[in-house]
Amino acid sequence: KPTNTLTKEQAATEAANLRPQLLAWGKQYYDADAPSVEDDVYDRVYARLVALEEAFPAIVTPESPTQHVGGTTRGDLPKVAHAIPMLSLGDVFSLEELSEFNDRLRSNVDEDFDYNCELKIDGLAISLRYENGKFIQGSTRGNGQIGEDITANLKMIPSIPQTLSRPLTIDVRGECYMPKAAFLALNERREAAGQAPFANPRNAAAGSLRQLDTQVTADRKLATFMYNIADYEPLNTRTQSGLLDELAELGFTTNPAYRVAHNMDEVNAYIDTYQAQRSDLPYGIDGIVIKANSLPLQRAIGATVKVPRWAIAYKFPPEEVQTIVEDIEWTV
Ligand code: NAD
Repeated sequence: KPTNTLTKEQAATEAANLRPQLLAWGKQYYDADAPSVEDDVYDRVYARLVALEEAFPAIVTPESPTQHVGGTTRGDLPKVAHAIPMLSLGDVFSLEELSEFNDRLRSNVDEDFDYNCELKIDGLAISLRYENGKFIQGSTRGNGQIGEDITANLKMIPSIPQTLSRPLTIDVRGECYMPKAAFLALNERREAAGQAPFANPRNAAAGSLRQLDTQVTADRKLATFMYNIADYEPLNTRTQSGLLDELAELGFTTNPAYRVAHNMDEVNAYIDTYQAQRSDLPYGIDGIVIKANSLPLQRAIGATVKVPRWAIAYKFPPEEVQTIVEDIEWTV
């Protein structure tokens, strides 16, 4: 039912039914690294909850999955408090919604600005702390405020530099992922050994990092693309695209497929290009991300409790056909 035909009570009842379902799916996905439904099913139910809460803000509850970054921390891994929170991303599923995001953002910002377009890498977010140019600690996003200390495992990943080309003290953020070929080979080995295969490369990467044996991580052929910094002050650049270049100069692996877009036609062209190339890339992407390119503007625009207001993910349709409609009707 469209939300504008619901009463507040109907919306509250529907939302109250959706939240425990989303939280249960989230627990499987984030905590056990073993999702029980396809992402697309989760995304559609989540989008319905967002629509209900936007139509009736009074029904929002603090425990709603819309009010916090998904994920917790495993009890057997040490904890790390993120000095600057690690956020999620808002998402849209159509070019129309993307255009509405752009219109809304531009109407709230006085200056003209460009977007930096990036691939949305299908892995898990990590934060790497360097002091005076030395890698000292690495962590998962966890609940955004507190993550898991996975330093020993991250030291086994060749693309993570132990020493930077300049002695900076910084927290660099990005994605750890498992390349498609490594994922297929891993699942073949697991099936041959009678073990359950991982559902997808994202869960395989997360499972490989969130365990205690560094040799297991080393054998899993994980890789990284870094794309963010908690505080840009120590850098020379003041743009998102420049940040990617500067991170590469410092020794990080960054994804080369970024592009500055001056308008939505250029954003849409970027989407077309990478949607067409998606299956040929050696790593998984589940969409593209557009970010206001100016770092001071990003800071001025700010964030909600969960997502930055200066960026949005455009999610690609799922690669495989699923029984989505039945699942959602059953859920709702
Ligand atoms: P998200 O993964 O959709 O988006 C935010 C994340 O994108 C960031 O934390 C970052 O790790 C990543 N990212 C990749 N490339 C990036 C780039 N270039 N710039 C910035 N960030 C980039 O959001 P989320 O809150 O982590 O998780 C929600 C997602 O997890 C949904 O897609 C949902 O489908 C899935 N999920 C699935 C289930 C399930 O049961 N199948 C349950 C919970 C969540």
